[in-house]
Amino acid sequence: MNNKRTKIVASISDERCEVEFLKQLHEAGMNVVRMNTAHATPEGLKKIIRNVRAVSNQIAILIDTKGPEVRTTACAGGAPIAYRTGEEVTLVGAPGEATTHDRICVTYPDMADDVAEGAHILFDDGLLDFSVIGREEGRLLLRAENDGELGSRKSVNVPGTRINLPAITEKDRQNILLAIEEDIDFIAHSFVRNKQDVLAVQEILDENHSDIKIIAKIENQEGVDNIDEILDAAYGVMVARGDLGIEVPIEQIPGIQQKLINRCILRKKPAIVATQMLHSMIQNPRPTRAEVTDIANAIYCHADAIMLSGETAYGKYPVEAVRTMATVAREVERTCPDENNVRIPLSGEEDITEFLAKQAVKATQRMSIRAILTDSYTGRTARHVAAFHAKYPVLAICYREKTMRLLALSYGVIPLYQEEKSNARAYFFAALHMLMRDHKITEADRVAYLSGSYGEGGGTTFLELNRVGDILNSAKDYLLPTFTAR
Ligand code: PEP
Repeated sequence: MNNKRTKIVASISDERCEVEFLKQLHEAGMNVVRMNTAHATPEGLKKIIRNVRAVSNQIAILIDTKGPEVRTTACAGGAPIAYRTGEEVTLVGAPGEATTHDRICVTYPDMADDVAEGAHILFDDGLLDFSVIGREEGRLLLRAENDGELGSRKSVNVPGTRINLPAITEKDRQNILLAIEEDIDFIAHSFVRNKQDVLAVQEILDENHSDIKIIAKIENQEGVDNIDEILDAAYGVMVARGDLGIEVPIEQIPGIQQKLINRCILRKKPAIVATQMLHSMIQNPRPTRAEVTDIANAIYCHADAIMLSGETAYGKYPVEAVRTMATVAREVERTCPDENNVRIPLSGEEDITEFLAKQAVKATQRMSIRAILTDSYTGRTARHVAAFHAKYPVLAICYREKTMRLLALSYGVIPLYQEEKSNARAYFFAALHMLMRDHKITEADRVAYLSGSYGEGGGTTFLELNRVGDILNSAKDYLLPTFTAR
């Protein structure tokens, strides 16, 4: 049972998504494929989905929307434009026009209405900083605060300013419909500012009877401030440190990361830490010490998943990056000091699943329980156990392939798909035999079993602690509920 417990999300481009390549990444420890929609075409996205599915039904697929994002337009003449500190230029919202040195055009027509004098406008991931020194009819007057170059279609951030773009662009809508059509697992929605932004995606899913889960990408102050209401609507959260590091003072990132993860743990929802985790491995075969420590800290903070972006999408060492992440995760999980295992309180609500999940994890600490088994119709019980960060694996017997893939984002959960069986009892024994066959447990091990008396969808109602050999020896008389449905 030496699988790593932290899950790995790897960003994949349609330009490098061959089946053999994806297989190598999966074997190295990738659990979820992330498709970035910034540059991909529908055909490209479908190609990635097809190839992932050819590798394994266990790899979850996540599509990333662009959300309410602003970019510059293409530079007139194509070449990047150079700016010197102190130069003054204008900015206009003109999606159809080219950017020139004196007139920077952006894709959001009402930009000049939303931005106040004194604000800073950052281009290209913050590499170029302009301050707003004036505002007149539909345009802003800017002054360059540093030397730099502006290429075509670069990112535009205005820290602390609410950009009144709708939550979903037409391109996002098309990509969400594609995700529904292809029945993928997650939509990571960019720049989520509040609950309404999540509900805008949920509305499209509901209209199309889709059960795809929404991950809220938190990448500005508004999203951080509204995390509680966002978690009312979202399945999980991505700490999108790329844009976050531009939208808020960069020294606040570690604190925000911890805050967002803590909120997810309390709500029993998965948290992904993203961006620049192994950035130097885009070019180099070995990581920096700081990157390794960053991975460790995300795990100490109790993130469920950690993400690779350019490292796997276009970097020179994609397989090595996944392998490095998995190796570091395995070591950190094995040696994590007990004092780092902070007490995770109960929510205070009368939630039986939460209470029993916590007792199951406690049992692994106080008795020789070596695995927690649970049957999983929706994955809810397994996610609850994941939030309490057990030292031993949570083996989730899933009746649906989709549930198995949803759990690809939950810490410590090994989802096991089982074909339709007649009842919970049959599932349980089939799972024990499968785990024995795969050498995941032995007859001498004790296991905890969390299940429900009312079958699929009926909720978790009991916790059983037992020795595998004893269960198997008394299989004939062993009592378990025989429901399959309410
Ligand atoms: C981020 O900003 O950290 C992020 C993950 O989003 P994107 O890669 O879409 O910029």
